[in-house]
Amino acid sequence: MEARSKKTLLGSWLLLGLSVTPHAGAAEPKLGITVQVYNWAHVAPGTLTAAEGEGTRIFRKAGVGVLWLNCPLSPSEAKESPICAEPCPWGRFALRIVYDVPAGFGTTSLGVALHDTGIYASVFYQRVDEFAKEGIATHPQILGHAMAHEIGHLLLGLRGHAAFGIMRGQWSAQDLRSASMGALLFSSRESAVIRDAVTREPEIPANPKTTLQVTVYVFNSVQISPRDLIKAETLAARIFEQVGIRIAWKAGLTVRDIDAPPIGEKWNPANLQLRIQKSSTVRGAGVTSEVMGFCLTMEKNDAVILFDEIENRAAMLNVAPAIPLGVTMAHEMGHLLLQSATHSLTGVMKARWIAEDLVAAERGDLTFSQEESRSLRNGMLRRIAAQTR
Ligand SMILES: [Zn+2]
Ligand SMILES: [Zn+2]
Repeated sequence: MEARSKKTLLGSWLLLGLSVTPHAGAAEPKLGITVQVYNWAHVAPGTLTAAEGEGTRIFRKAGVGVLWLNCPLSPSEAKESPICAEPCPWGRFALRIVYDVPAGFGTTSLGVALHDTGIYASVFYQRVDEFAKEGIATHPQILGHAMAHEIGHLLLGLRGHAAFGIMRGQWSAQDLRSASMGALLFSSRESAVIRDAVTREPEIPANPKTTLQVTVYVFNSVQISPRDLIKAETLAARIFEQVGIRIAWKAGLTVRDIDAPPIGEKWNPANLQLRIQKSSTVRGAGVTSEVMGFCLTMEKNDAVILFDEIENRAAMLNVAPAIPLGVTMAHEMGHLLLQSATHSLTGVMKARWIAEDLVAAERGDLTFSQEESRSLRNGMLRRIAAQTR
């Protein structure tokens, strides 16, 4: 049950816009957002830092400070500094810089914001390269504006594009010229909406029966019987029901290629993916014996569950495998939804269960803590708020 996250800090974190005093007269932003940056395109550190500086300047004009966290991509760096794996509070976003433009995007598309997550956005560095070739604005300027534009989408909700300014759908040569002069900004109306979005954490409805739903894809690569899988899913679903979250299972999927995206679906980080495998398929990846599951990448909402370890534990504790399987599923989903590798002393998020815990689980008495339940519901509400704002 060891959770391993790729989301930790690479080197020192950059505090920009929160501690730097802007030019005289401009008030220091009281509001702030945090952006976790995943530099998959391997943009040179100097370029990235300069781009983040551009983004900070743009958001500061809107009255919002930005804390950029350059998060590592490799799990080996994960243990060093867990700040990137902390629970996602309101106002924290994840931005991936990828090189290639995925299929299906327009020829001028600089990136994409995944509204249904409310958290994730991508910028396509290939486009930054192309725009930079025009010789009007530099790489850091274009990248910084693209990052601000996509984060802008997440904060502005489904308002979409504007006729003028940084939220224009397509940047002309004139826009690039404005960008190079620092004049491509959020409008005052957009700035107000952004400040409002940063200020207002979504309220938790008084009624805990409010339906929050998350879709979970289950990749059953070890041919667990449908009966056992349904039993495990029912157990996991019951744990989440007590928190007020309904699970929509897309079960029975089997994939030959473990890295394949869900069949017939575009990758959507609002969904969770549980891959049930044998430990032999992941040994050597730093997974120690007795680990029953771990988060493959929290960024992708992907977790692996090791069924042979679960069977071993079940035999040792003399329970049906479906029980530890269901609890492990709930536990790993907990890590993914809490965006945290942290364990607690009791309940579902315990690092290691004893027989009594599994007996409690079967009775429906193994639950998330109050604090975890709050965080889980908060995270779900934020996703919903981002879709409807
Ligand atoms: Zn764990
Ligand atoms: Zn856009």
